[in-house]
Amino acid sequence: MYRLARNEGNGLANTETREKAPALLSVRGIHKSFGLNQVLKGIDLDVNAGEVLALIGGNGAGKSTLMKIIMGLYTHDSGELLFKGEQVSMTNTAAALARGIYMVPQEPLLFPNMNVEENVLIGFKQNKADLHKELVAIMEDVGWDLDLSRKANGLSIAEQQMVEILRGILRRAQLLILDEPTSALTFDEVKSLFKVVAELQEKGIGIIYITHRLSEVFDVATDVAIMRDGIITIHGPVSDFTREDLVRGLLPPDAEVEVQKQDAAAGGVDYSAAPVLELEGFSGYGFTDVSLKVWPGEVLGVAGVVGAGRTEMATTIFGMDKVLGGRVLLNGRDITGRKTKQVIQAGLNYVPEDRHLNGLFKICDVAANTTSASLYSNTLGVVLLNHRAERNITDTYVKSFRTKITGQDQLVGSLSGGNQQKVVIGRSLAPEPKIVVLDEPTRGIDAAARGDVYNIIHQLREQGVSVLLISSDMEEIVELADRAVTMYQGHINAEFKKDDINQDNLMAAAFGIASKEGIGA
Ligand code: ADP
Ligand code: MG
Repeated sequence: MYRLARNEGNGLANTETREKAPALLSVRGIHKSFGLNQVLKGIDLDVNAGEVLALIGGNGAGKSTLMKIIMGLYTHDSGELLFKGEQVSMTNTAAALARGIYMVPQEPLLFPNMNVEENVLIGFKQNKADLHKELVAIMEDVGWDLDLSRKANGLSIAEQQMVEILRGILRRAQLLILDEPTSALTFDEVKSLFKVVAELQEKGIGIIYITHRLSEVFDVATDVAIMRDGIITIHGPVSDFTREDLVRGLLPPDAEVEVQKQDAAAGGVDYSAAPVLELEGFSGYGFTDVSLKVWPGEVLGVAGVVGAGRTEMATTIFGMDKVLGGRVLLNGRDITGRKTKQVIQAGLNYVPEDRHLNGLFKICDVAANTTSASLYSNTLGVVLLNHRAERNITDTYVKSFRTKITGQDQLVGSLSGGNQQKVVIGRSLAPEPKIVVLDEPTRGIDAAARGDVYNIIHQLREQGVSVLLISSDMEEIVELADRAVTMYQGHINAEFKKDDINQDNLMAAAFGIASKEGIGA
């Protein structure tokens, strides 16, 4: 819907303008290797003023590497970059900034104790009063409702991203790069980000919008490029492609090839045992009539796209949202509509998608964070753990998860994303649940930490703890799940046994395409 609103009266994005002026940014024949790993194999890409180019691709496709080359963080081996037709060499980020290129990182870097304005203005040398005036004018211009005097530690991820975007606009960015901006956002926040993107586009700013969510292409982008294994497989105006075209561009050339997966460790699941978790015709806001079972020691993958209703289903099980119908059974006990505290006591814990906001108390230390959920595990209610018990529990998780901290008293806000995630998962395991629901557990964390999180999931399975793994990363589900379901528009629309879990099947179902044959047809 934003596309419609935005395209009215926007002359910049039309093809005629495009053909006359040189592109804002042209990437020509860019190659880049890390050692023997050839990551970019000849990339050609144009971005024009007033264009929103969605760049999609799976993990490791090379998207971030390309952006880092554009930002001057990495140097390319061959090829060239042209800015408004002029060859440029981005030797460092200052050179990129001077050209008006600004990248909003996936995890905004804000100073929690400073307010919005201080965070935006940090690093500017000009007179602060002048900058303040300019900032207020920008805010009015784009019509954003964000209080400049609010402390950053109270901001949602979406608001933190707005701060980053404001930094870019104030630097007069002409090209704004958003690296997977919606991966940490709720459904409503995604909608407001799309509005922001539309407003920036109206101002004639060129935008590269990186995502792994195909559906967003149709909501926000004018143009699309798909990157797979260091090459661009598809590039052009969004209107030239159907969803199926894009899915095909994401898949390996021989779509029958199955992605390598973990050996059938799934053999360990005893499907004749009683399920740990059963949902029967379960309904709430954003999802309807969901039935599923999870067996002891089983990892059930729940694939889907943003807005499919997966997070809403999880938060409703967890007593955070209203149940509208159906039942939830945990070890055969009806826990439908119970309060969060009682759900934890009954043996289910939830690690939310937005760990920054819901999952972690950033200003608390690692020990307090690890044990904060187990305060509930005493049936008498909230009982404070003694200090020594707290240290022991924390120590166990810090060691087994290889969490990199300077000490238990380190403030969690100062840990890297991957280490924060390990603290949150550790916290959810402290009350010794029978099943944990992990919502996008590796989103926005680096490859090493991702490996550690995968190991944690393998360990849990070995210990007989079940995992409901919500992930938009199909590779992750292929790698970890013993069984998988896909959710599409609030319903479960497909189920796959271990041997049938592959990216084609999951992707097709997640996008509501009926069958594998349907993709090729
Ligand atoms: P994407 O952003 O599409 O997920 P990346 O650009 O991050 O992909 O990664 C592409 C490939 O480049 C991966 O195989 C990754 O391991 C490798 N890579 C990225 N940065 C480095 C680096 N600094 N050193 C070595 N390999 C890297
Ligand atoms: Mg990336």
